[in-house]
Amino acid sequence: MIVAKRQRHNLDAHATRDTRDMDLTLSSLTHLSDVDVLHEVKRLVHRERQATARLIAALMEVDARSLYLAEGCSSLFTYCTQVLHLSEHTAYGRIQAARAARRFPVILERLADGSINLTTVGLLAAHLTATNCDEVLHQARHQPKRVIEEIVAKLRPKPDVASSVRKLPAPKRRVAAQVQHGTVIRSSAVPEAVLSATPQAAAPGAAAPAPSTLSTVSPLAPERYKVQLTVNRATYEKLRRAQDLLRHRVPNGDPAEIFDRALSLLLEKLERDKSATTDAPRHARQRTPGTRHIPTAIRRAVWTRDGGQCAFVGRQGRCTERGLLEFHHVQPYAAGGDATVENIQLRCRSHNIYDAEQFFGALFVRETAVDYSCSSPDSKSLNRRSRAHASTQRQRTRAGPPAE
Ligand SMILES: [Zn+2]
Repeated sequence: MIVAKRQRHNLDAHATRDTRDMDLTLSSLTHLSDVDVLHEVKRLVHRERQATARLIAALMEVDARSLYLAEGCSSLFTYCTQVLHLSEHTAYGRIQAARAARRFPVILERLADGSINLTTVGLLAAHLTATNCDEVLHQARHQPKRVIEEIVAKLRPKPDVASSVRKLPAPKRRVAAQVQHGTVIRSSAVPEAVLSATPQAAAPGAAAPAPSTLSTVSPLAPERYKVQLTVNRATYEKLRRAQDLLRHRVPNGDPAEIFDRALSLLLEKLERDKSATTDAPRHARQRTPGTRHIPTAIRRAVWTRDGGQCAFVGRQGRCTERGLLEFHHVQPYAAGGDATVENIQLRCRSHNIYDAEQFFGALFVRETAVDYSCSSPDSKSLNRRSRAHASTQRQRTRAGPPAE
């Protein structure tokens, strides 16, 4: 009885302390400095990982002893959803991890130290063996889902899927109406990067993409991918036309071959437009000091030097963004910075605005946004609107009073 009371007291004390910590955190976050907020986030992530690993270890024990039965549940999943009130997705992921960790306890250590996450465990669990466990978990360390799927494809390669084009039934709902007369194209041997566009790379205001469930890309085996997408009638007609025109080179009209050729041409054009690259570069014009104009030769040199990637380097390393890049004056033009290779760097939109805000202040940047995008002239008005929109959004999401 004394032991039970002491345990209950300890539980209450833990609960009170946790609640007090939570209150303290919620009420004080807005008053923390930027450095302290980042420190707090890291501390909480670390604590969450520890708690998740601990929870999974506990679920392993509940599972091993079938403790959910005496609680009135027919399965551990039912116990997790109906007694612990976890969502179905959360329960499934944790139970899957618990059962994998029972076979390979090292999974708990990796989850606790953050080198793998529950998504990784979910994808790898069925493919782990006593022989490959250490090596596979090492390969999966800090890797995104895309890479984990590649590892799975290597562990268990699948055969190519046959290319096919077929007409879909007319969709009923409004969203699906965007793909009316839609056609599904399946193919393989297409670089995965084609469909790896990230949400932040999408231009605000651009046409809404088709629902993601309609387009998929997944690795089948090393160097082999399955791509599935739905297109409208106009795109379908273009495919048919391309098949006809290429009949002498691609007799079977394989959509995978057509797709690859079309993308090669598109990439060549995009690279040329964005980087100002050319097979026969003209001699660089004499640059004109005191103008905002960035000569083509300098754009080309900057693009090549920065490797078509944002060159901003933060405390945690260089930005990896390759979409919607802009040319950035390291020493701002308004502060005397010239358009030289040394003074121009590539920036993603967010970091270009961030740099400008650091130098001029947020309000000034919003009022005087200047376009140095790598995009075509047609999209410049869109870019200006997008920059203003991005800046406004960043202000709204910032803690504390607005800068103006
Ligand atoms: Zn960036």
